[in-house]
Amino acid sequence: MTELNELDDLYQEIILDHYRHPRNQQAVEAPDMQAHALNPFCGDEVDLQARMEDGRICEVCFKGRGCSISQASASIMTELLKGKTPEEALELYSVFRRLMFGEDISEEELDGMGELGALAGVRKFPVRIKCALLGWNSLDDAIGEYAKANG
Ligand code: ZN
Repeated sequence: MTELNELDDLYQEIILDHYRHPRNQQAVEAPDMQAHALNPFCGDEVDLQARMEDGRICEVCFKGRGCSISQASASIMTELLKGKTPEEALELYSVFRRLMFGEDISEEELDGMGELGALAGVRKFPVRIKCALLGWNSLDDAIGEYAKANG
């Protein structure tokens, strides 16, 4: 993929590693939240499942297919979600969106994003931003449904 070749080498490596070896593929038994997201532009799909315990996300799984950016972003996301409250997860989503849309984020916010920072270069390629945000769209839906169902 040409876009990927233009990203920093280290960043490329992180993205390809998650793409080839996606994390958290083990289905969650009795998930408390789940959602499916589709990016018609390049046919990317992400199915997300999560289980809650004491108000925090304790188990996450995603299944997906599509381009390396969409799958790597979803994989990194699942790593970041464990132990977070839904509010904290949505906060991270909002920071990542700001990064994707070229807004400034603080050093502290960048630290909190971990390997997600490897996707920063994607913002140079507007059509790929949807790929990077796909997994997060499914998370947003999953949390929204969960919040509705749990008052
Ligand atoms: Zn894509």
